[in-house]
Amino acid sequence: MIDTATEIEKRYEEMVGLRRHMHMHPEVSFHEENTKQYIYEQIKDLGLDIRKDVGGNGIIARLQINDSYKTVALRADFDALPIQDEKDVPYKSKKEGVMHACGHDAHTAMLITAARILSAYKDELPVNVVFIHQHAEESLPGGARAMIENGALENIDYIFGTHVSSNYPVGTLSYTYDYAYASVDSFAITLQGQGGHGAEPHEANDPVVAAASLIQQLQSIVSRTVDPLKSAVVTVGKFNSGSAFNIIPGTVEIEGTVRTFEREVKEKVKKRMEGIARGIESSYDVKCDLAYTEGYPALLNDNTQLNHLVDVMQEAEYVSRCEENPPVMGGEDFSYFLQNIPGAYVYTGVQNSSIDADYPHHHPMFDIDETGMKAGVETLINTVLQFK
Ligand code: MN
Repeated sequence: MIDTATEIEKRYEEMVGLRRHMHMHPEVSFHEENTKQYIYEQIKDLGLDIRKDVGGNGIIARLQINDSYKTVALRADFDALPIQDEKDVPYKSKKEGVMHACGHDAHTAMLITAARILSAYKDELPVNVVFIHQHAEESLPGGARAMIENGALENIDYIFGTHVSSNYPVGTLSYTYDYAYASVDSFAITLQGQGGHGAEPHEANDPVVAAASLIQQLQSIVSRTVDPLKSAVVTVGKFNSGSAFNIIPGTVEIEGTVRTFEREVKEKVKKRMEGIARGIESSYDVKCDLAYTEGYPALLNDNTQLNHLVDVMQEAEYVSRCEENPPVMGGEDFSYFLQNIPGAYVYTGVQNSSIDADYPHHHPMFDIDETGMKAGVETLINTVLQFK
């Protein structure tokens, strides 16, 4: 019988080495050429059926045990971010302006380790296993959808994954029933007025004042249109206009994001945005073009599969605490996999303030307590071994 905790202990240094190699050699979304090759080298001798370049830089490795068995997939993403690594550690990023600031290096190190351990004990597995190494999670349209369109989920029944989190102490695993992450939509609004002299507003048609009013009104959507017991966010993050203090510009460009869980709430927000834009047009005599783009859908866990994961976590050796937490308004393209097959996604705590591993994700000082990977990989492995 496979003793998962002992196997992980034996391979711990190796797993840390994998993570640190990737940490030193990060690549941004859609440009992970060396990373995908590195991953391939790490798993090519395990007897897996490997498909490269799935939907881009994605890699799929299948451990087929028996054609009559169910198949469980484990997924890790492997892209980094355009952020300068400002940590002073031996494994600091060697690439200027690029950094694994979200822990995807740890996800990949855990998945490679899981593949090594599970393939060494393949006679004991109750299911076939597919290891999904996904590129480009950090940048829309993301790698997941393209991988699925390229057949990544063929002959797979269930899927599981975990994201490291510096919000939770090392040893903690955190889970959320139903919706765990929000959908990530973006919008761009162009207001077209009539430019002119700053001293002669009556000869112009000022889109800046119209835009100011528009932004105010957009902020009434969540408070006045959305059911107070539901969740939504409308944020304007970009406002571009003008060139000088005494010129009324002709156009204003605004960009922002909308986060929701439920489709019905999203539709309400979209409809209201349209309505506000039309109102601004007639109030200010400007043209107001709204482009709304849907990004990652909300991540909806399958509660039956999440319960399986929770059972596994509660018995895991390296998991000292297993807790339910509320959803977040951030996004994660694991949601596409869950739109197609049942599964669940949880957080693996890697926070440890005594070693400065408590900065937020996407921060230039972001780091993890690597021992947290033990709990994460144990959960992935036991999810497979204990699958019923
Ligand atoms: Mn991430």
